[in-house]
Amino acid sequence: MSKILVIGAGGVSSVAIHKMAQLSNDFKEITLASRTIDNCKKIQKQIKKKYNCNINIEELDADNISETSKIISKYTPELVVNLALPYQDLNIMQACLNKNVNYLDTANYEPRDEAKFEYKWQWELNNKFKEKNLMGLLGSGFDPGVTNVYTAYIKKHYLDEIHYLDILDCNGGDHGQHFATNFNPEINIREITQKSKFYKNGKWITGDPLSKKIEFDFPEVGKRNMYLMYHEELESLVKNFRDLKQARFWMTFGDQYLNYLNVLENVGLTSIKPIKFKNMDIIPLEFLKEVLPDPKTLGKNTEGKTCIGTIISGLKNKKIKTIYCYNVCDHEKCFEEVESQAVSYTTGVPAMIGSLLILNKTWFKPGVWNLEQFDPDPFIDALKLYGLPNKIVELDTPLSF
Ligand code: NDP
Repeated sequence: MSKILVIGAGGVSSVAIHKMAQLSNDFKEITLASRTIDNCKKIQKQIKKKYNCNINIEELDADNISETSKIISKYTPELVVNLALPYQDLNIMQACLNKNVNYLDTANYEPRDEAKFEYKWQWELNNKFKEKNLMGLLGSGFDPGVTNVYTAYIKKHYLDEIHYLDILDCNGGDHGQHFATNFNPEINIREITQKSKFYKNGKWITGDPLSKKIEFDFPEVGKRNMYLMYHEELESLVKNFRDLKQARFWMTFGDQYLNYLNVLENVGLTSIKPIKFKNMDIIPLEFLKEVLPDPKTLGKNTEGKTCIGTIISGLKNKKIKTIYCYNVCDHEKCFEEVESQAVSYTTGVPAMIGSLLILNKTWFKPGVWNLEQFDPDPFIDALKLYGLPNKIVELDTPLSF
C-alpha cells in the first residue's frame, strides 16, 4: 500500500517499525530517519534479520525544518510518523505542511525551556492541515492514545452519558535496576515532577506533584500505589466529551523509585535551568538522562506486566453504571516478539495502528485530530489483532475515592 517515514530511532520507534515490517503488504516502504545514524542501523539490522525486510535509513536533525523537508522530498512518504521527542512536533508538522504529507505523533508539543505540555500549538495548525487536505493525528500511543479510544468506546457502547473518568496507568514490571524510567528519562521526569492537575465541574484543580496517593488492586498485577498526576489526554477528553464532570489521571510508582526521584530533585539534578559546568552551559536533567539506563535496553531483564485502562461512571438508561476497560501487557512476551519492554510496546503498537487507519483511509479526515474524535471500533479491533487486546468489566459501584 504505502510509503512511510518514521522519525526517531528510540524504544517506541523500534517497536512501531517491527510491527510495520510484520505488515509488509500495508507498509510497502519504510524509511527511518533519526539524529544518530548508528541507532537507525541497529533497527535496520534487526528488521532485516527478523523479517528479511529492507528499510531505508537517514541521519536527520528534525529540529531543522528544511532538513526534514528534504528527506520527505527524497522518499515521498504518504505519512510521517514522529517518534522523536515532543520538542520536534511543531517543526515536523511544519515540514509535513511544506511537503503535503500526513502526520502522526504519540506525545504533544512541549517547549524545551519550560516543562509544560499543551495541545494549543498543534491544534492551531488544524486549518492549515484542512486547507491542504492533510491529516494530523495527535497522541497515537497508549496514554494518550488507547485511553482516548477506550473513552470513546465506552461512550459508544456502554453509557449514554459519561460523568467521571479515571485513567489508571500501572507498570507492575521489575527491571532489576536501582532507578530507571520506562521511556525517555528527560521527558518522563519533566512530566512526573510537574504539579498534579485534574478537572472537576468546569475547573482545573492543581496540587503538589505526586502528593495524592491511593492503593488500587490492578487486574493481573495486584495492589499498587498510584499517584494523581496531570496527563495530556485530559485536555482533549474534557474538550471532546462535554458531559464529563471529573477527569483524573493516575500512575503507579514504587517507594524505591520515589526515594531516588526525591534525592535527584533535592540535589538539583532534575532541573531544566542551565548551570555552568567547566565553562559550558549544561542542563542538569539532560546530563542525568545520559547517566540513567536507556529504556530501550531494559527489555531483556524486565519481568511482570503493565495494566493500563480507563474507569468511567455515567448513566445508562438513566441508571448509574461504571465500566472499566483495560489492557494487560506482559514485558517478557513483548521482548520475545520485538526485543522491547512493554512500555515501548504499548506505545509503538498504537502508533502503527493509527498509521494503518490513516493510510487505509478508515480514519482519514483532513485536519488535526485526537483519537477520541473517530469511531473507536476499528482501532479496538486492530488492538486485538496486533497484540493489545482489551478487557471490559462492569464495576458494582463508582470509585470510592
Ligand atoms: P527515546 O529517547 O528512546 O527515542 C527518541 C528518539 O528520537 C531517539 O532515537 C533520538 O535520537 C531521536 N531524536 C531526538 N531528538 C531528535 C532530533 N532533533 N532529530 C531527530 N531525531 C531525534 O524515546 P522513546 O522512544 O521512549 O519515546 C518516543 C516518544 O514517544 C516520545 O515523544 C515520548 O514522549 C513518547 N511516548 C508516548 C507514550 C504514549 O503512551 N503516548 C508513552 C511513551 C513514550 P538519539 O538516538 O540520537 O537519542
